[in-house]
Amino acid sequence: MKVVVDNNLCEANAVCMRLAPDIFKVDDNDVLHIMQEHLPETDRARVGEAVRRCPRQALSIVED
Ligand code: SF4
Repeated sequence: MKVVVDNNLCEANAVCMRLAPDIFKVDDNDVLHIMQEHLPETDRARVGEAVRRCPRQALSIVED
C-alpha cells in the first residue's frame, strides 16, 4: 500500500500531518511530503482517515 498526494490539489493545511505525523510532513515552503513510500497494513486505518478527512481530496491510497 502507498499513499500519494496530488500537489496540485493540496493546500498544505496539515490536517493529514496532525493525524499521522510520521507519514505526512508539510515543510516550511508549504509542500506536503510523504515520508514513507511503502506502508504496512497496520497503517491502513489511520491513512484511510487522513484520505477521508483531507478537505481538498488530495490524497489517495494506491495498492502496490
Ligand atoms: S490534508 Fe490534504 S490538503 Fe491538507 S496537507 Fe494533507 S493532503 Fe494537503
